[in-house]
Amino acid sequence: MTQQITVQIAETKRDKPDQSNLGFGRIFTDHMFMMNFTEGKGWHDARIVPYQPLTLDPSAMVFHYGQTVFEGMKAYLTEDGQIFLFRPEKNMERLNRSNDRLCIPQIDGDFVIEGLKKLIAVDREWIPTAEGTSLYIRPFIIATEPFLGVAPAKNYIFMIIMSPVGSYYKEGISPVKILVESEFVRAVKGGTGEAKTGGNYASSLKAQELATGKEYSQVLWLDGVEKKYIEEVGSMNVFFKINGEVVTPALNGSILHGVTRDSVIQLLKHWNIPVSERRISIDEIAQAHREGKLEEAFGTGTAAVISPIGEFFWGSEQLVLNGGKTGELSKRIYDTITGIQKGKLEDPFGWVTKVPVSESK
Ligand SMILES: *Cc1c(COP(=O)(O)O)cnc(C)c1O
Repeated sequence: MTQQITVQIAETKRDKPDQSNLGFGRIFTDHMFMMNFTEGKGWHDARIVPYQPLTLDPSAMVFHYGQTVFEGMKAYLTEDGQIFLFRPEKNMERLNRSNDRLCIPQIDGDFVIEGLKKLIAVDREWIPTAEGTSLYIRPFIIATEPFLGVAPAKNYIFMIIMSPVGSYYKEGISPVKILVESEFVRAVKGGTGEAKTGGNYASSLKAQELATGKEYSQVLWLDGVEKKYIEEVGSMNVFFKINGEVVTPALNGSILHGVTRDSVIQLLKHWNIPVSERRISIDEIAQAHREGKLEEAFGTGTAAVISPIGEFFWGSEQLVLNGGKTGELSKRIYDTITGIQKGKLEDPFGWVTKVPVSESK
């Protein structure tokens, strides 16, 4: 795919938001990347255009049967003014895995990363500079063919929109309380749990809403068959430190292949801290807690990087970890990954991709 990417610059640039109150995902930059797919023609018309609403046919298939995939990644501004992306090739790999599952045509990951770099260069003034802030990047694909039949669409739009986001932790990294979900399930093997697709999120809202009503910030998902084995926490992967060893659920067919998850595993191996991917039951976690061996637990994902867990509530049992405080290892992993992302620490893993800014406009 040797396509040109055309660039149309917005005539009026909007005011940049107040960096102390960015929140998440409500403010968007001046431009967006788009390309179209038409059967027989492939992906075409790659372009950067002013951020604007879309016009779609009400019968566009995405509205009816949810044929859509997305990604989530971030760009960071370093202290010396460079722009870093974190492992963007992993996001492209995963996007194509999601595409495969949803019968959406494959994209050329290298080409999309080139388009993304161009888009970031055009909107570079939107990357916030305040401590802990970043530019959140949302690539996504929707089925646009106007048709009410149930079949893979023949037309799609691929887009990238970007949003300056605030620090996930306003007052430093801090632990959350988690409700172990025993009624609803997120995914089953053979379903779409491994794909980043809207339907997984739509089906998680009910449990999330009930948990929030009880003042828990997320749910811990158990497997969809026996409701016994741990899968994920909210929309993050999950890790436990038990008696000096770190464990995380193995990628069993219903768990999202998190980029942060993979990075944490690599980092632990690099530090010679024992880490294993295996099946973990909720009983094992409760038992380890009773024996005083459950040292730490944390979620991993692009938004928070590391989200320490201070408490689990399961049935009638309340499991408080590390006195409800952030564990030492959780903090060390958080500091290291965010340090690499922001260019404050060496990157021995080759995780960082630089965005050239000279070629913009
Ligand atoms: C995106 C996502 C994650 C985290 O993946 P990262 O690549 O680390 O951001 C975990 N679980 C679910 C369900 C997700 O959608």
